[in-house]
Amino acid sequence: MEHLVLRTQSPTILCLGAHSDDIEIGCGGTLLRILDTTPAASVWWVVFSGHDERAEEARRGAELFAGDRLAHFEVHDLQDGFFPEHFEEVKERFRSLDVSPDLVLTHRRKDAHQDHRMIGELTWQTFRDHLILEYEILKYDGDMGSPNVYVPLDEAYANNKVQYLADAFRSQRSKYWFEREVFLSLMTVRGVECKSRYAEAFYGSKLVLRG
Ligand SMILES: [Zn+2]
Repeated sequence: MEHLVLRTQSPTILCLGAHSDDIEIGCGGTLLRILDTTPAASVWWVVFSGHDERAEEARRGAELFAGDRLAHFEVHDLQDGFFPEHFEEVKERFRSLDVSPDLVLTHRRKDAHQDHRMIGELTWQTFRDHLILEYEILKYDGDMGSPNVYVPLDEAYANNKVQYLADAFRSQRSKYWFEREVFLSLMTVRGVECKSRYAEAFYGSKLVLRG
């Protein structure tokens, strides 16, 4: 297996999340790794639903994961669970994104959650000549699939990810799925699939290779 790398010296990574904590859960370890290995990389961070405490948590999460590489941060206040009813509003938010990223990390278009799914679909409608990788979120609905892009993570990245999640999202701690073991378990499974201790996995449904 050969490895793909971002060839741009100072890549811009656009992270899109329906809710406060989605980006961190879906691709937090990958971000930590990329920012560590690509010193000039910068991050745009967009969360579409976050009110009050959840908005503050979104900012805290972005700061923990992206640090001083956070070039842009925005959190909107769309109603959790009702994105399809506000399609025009969500689409308008996408239109206003004044960035041409080298890599877009977003929700999976086949995600069972309607808000996640819409963000995934609008990502593809908006970014027509960009590298898009769709991250996965483990949930009750049982929509895990077979991803085809893996980012191996060593223990430090995985442990920092779960620690930052716990630090940033205190309001979520009572949820049964917001557990260190849950996050580490999925990263362990994806690690087995790419011969690494841990990994995060993505769906890359279209890749253009330019040599
Ligand atoms: Zn979510």
